[in-house]
Amino acid sequence: MARLLQGKVLAISLKNRLKEAVSRQVQETGSRPILACIQVGQDKAQRLYLKQQEKTAAEIDVGFRLIDLEEDVDPDELKLVIDGLNQDPHVHGIILQQPLPRRLSSHGFEGCLNPLKDVEGVHPENLGLLFKGNERFKPCTAMAVLELLELAECGFEGKEAVVVGHSAIVGKPVSLMLLNRLATTTVCHIATSDRGLLSEHVKRAELLIVAVGKPGLIAGSWIRPGAVVVDVGVNVSKDGRVCGDVEFETARERASLITPVPGGVGPLTVAMLMKNLIEAFNLQREVNEL
Ligand code: NAP
Repeated sequence: MARLLQGKVLAISLKNRLKEAVSRQVQETGSRPILACIQVGQDKAQRLYLKQQEKTAAEIDVGFRLIDLEEDVDPDELKLVIDGLNQDPHVHGIILQQPLPRRLSSHGFEGCLNPLKDVEGVHPENLGLLFKGNERFKPCTAMAVLELLELAECGFEGKEAVVVGHSAIVGKPVSLMLLNRLATTTVCHIATSDRGLLSEHVKRAELLIVAVGKPGLIAGSWIRPGAVVVDVGVNVSKDGRVCGDVEFETARERASLITPVPGGVGPLTVAMLMKNLIEAFNLQREVNEL
């Protein structure tokens, strides 16, 4: 029976360490990191994520600023808001809540962020650094996945890693991070499933990361005995329970370590955001002192 990889527990100890780091920053510099969050419109799921950010910011004593914009905001006005935050020396991290309303999504606003304030790791410069293996800020959910794998102490070099899902915010950055750590990495997606080859790949995985959003996509019987399984998926099952993409009970019988859903990757994601904020604060100070 697999042990649980509990992001919830790890997030508590990480937040304690981050709070200490912030307290040191305040002592040494007289100022504290400030996170600015731009929200366009009133999306319910985004509001929930915002609340988590605000709560975690308060827990570790960093500042939090919310910039609430109307759904019909003009693209030029949004650009001006971003520019203002880029220039503001009191703001160290900027989040542009996603998804943006469809009419704004093709404007490439990620590229307007100051890359040194891009605490969600979505600016092309930060993605390029990840691609080159010279990692700086990375997407927070991908960071949470790697943090859990590191906690598992399973090692990466030469390991058979299989990532299911290739989205820009989870699957792709996770794959690159695994590749950068010399795991032998396979990425599966819809076409893998359509060809009926998903189970074949999953059965090889010593490290299995699933980020799709389809409950029960990964049968427990596919799990390689002893595998480490990180389930990023968050779904609501037919009986109204929150569940992941992996059949948890049967997978748990075969894996050595597995994340629960909820309580696995999710709680660590916001902690990773704060880790990036603290790093951004230090980085900006270093650059300003040059
Ligand atoms: P997404 O953008 O919808 O991407 C889903 C990915 O799954 C796509 O790459 C898609 O491939 C692939 N896919 C779809 N059906 C598939 C199938 N039958 N077999 C194999 N691959 C398939 O979703 P996301 O933003 O990456 O999120 C994925 C899941 O993680 C969701 O449940 C989301 O709620 C959850 N999530 C959790 C956190 C957290 O902090 N816990 C954070 C972010 C996301 P194609 O594009 O080729 O169709």
